[in-house]
Amino acid sequence: MTNDINRAFNFNAGPSALPLYALQRAQTELLDYKGTGMSVMEMSHRGKEYEEIHNGAIALLRELMNIPEDYEILFIQGGASLQFSMIPMNFLASGKKGAYILTGSWSEKALAEAKMFGEVYVPASGKDNKYNSIPDLSSVAYEPDTAYVHITSNNTIYGTQWQQFPEIKDIPLIADMSSDMLSRPVDVSKFAMIYAGAQKNLGPSGVTLVIIKKSFLETAGKNNPTMLRYSTYAENNSLYNTPPCYSIYILNLVLQYAKENGGIPTLAKLNSEKAAMLYKAIDSSDGFYFGHAKTESRSLMNVVFRLKDEELEKAFLLEAKQKGFVGLAGHRSVGGCRASIYNAVPQEACRALKQFMEDFREKNS
Ligand code: PMP
Repeated sequence: MTNDINRAFNFNAGPSALPLYALQRAQTELLDYKGTGMSVMEMSHRGKEYEEIHNGAIALLRELMNIPEDYEILFIQGGASLQFSMIPMNFLASGKKGAYILTGSWSEKALAEAKMFGEVYVPASGKDNKYNSIPDLSSVAYEPDTAYVHITSNNTIYGTQWQQFPEIKDIPLIADMSSDMLSRPVDVSKFAMIYAGAQKNLGPSGVTLVIIKKSFLETAGKNNPTMLRYSTYAENNSLYNTPPCYSIYILNLVLQYAKENGGIPTLAKLNSEKAAMLYKAIDSSDGFYFGHAKTESRSLMNVVFRLKDEELEKAFLLEAKQKGFVGLAGHRSVGGCRASIYNAVPQEACRALKQFMEDFREKNS
């Protein structure tokens, strides 16, 4: 536990740690937001107070991520999972194909949804290597009539991450950045679309951020139901219907905090320092701990590792839990251990975990 308000060492994969600043501001404003006598949860989404929160969050995103003016910033519900369906619904017109680079379970899920709507293919996949690295795309040939190439920038379950994004000429690139949005500088202009469920680096669940190039948006099919068309959100500033107001309010606070603390460059520096601590504990353990990802594909957000035998792994997770470390069990589909160290996980928590890993190894070697 850290400091006297009993905050856990929270390594949850999502929903996950939020900046204390955002939680405390929300606490202060819970019953009476800026003298209105109402909580943000209780006020009209058409009122000026909410409008300020909503537009403030959009402006902060544009500023922090350097999002060019020819991109729309949208708030949609349904999680990143709904984007798996909305993308092919909107962009896989008949005769067009969706190219899916497979780097883990989430890209597999995106592919499976796209198959329901149109033609797809897989130009490269890391599946044969148990998704322990990001495939090399240098010799990949894309098929004619490819509507878009879809990648998952950070693989939350396998702990791999694209270190450099592919340069694909003349085909729109779409990235699911659910688990590394806002964690490092990204040149948005290289993408036709970026999306992320908020519940890791951005805020609570309930809102999904979509950043989409206007010219790409214009190529979307027009016949989908209203709530499943990107244009509905773009034309109505994501206020066609009631948005997830409270999630967007917290997102705004998270962004304010990021801005006041050096923005993305500072977050990126802290993130690599935090990851370096944990990878060091793994690499210097003489095989007591071993990482799933190949070094060159390692994620700075999800450190996925195993112990040399399963009994020891169980003992590690149990003792970690007793010591106040939360969320260290690997995803139920792969087992092992995973420390998710998103933006709001403090260095202090990573230092404590590194120390715990070293002490546990010493006791059990
Ligand atoms: N993509 C990635 C990379 C994820 O990590 C997750 C959730 N952990 C999802 C998609 C699914 O997100 P949601 O639960 O918001 O639908």
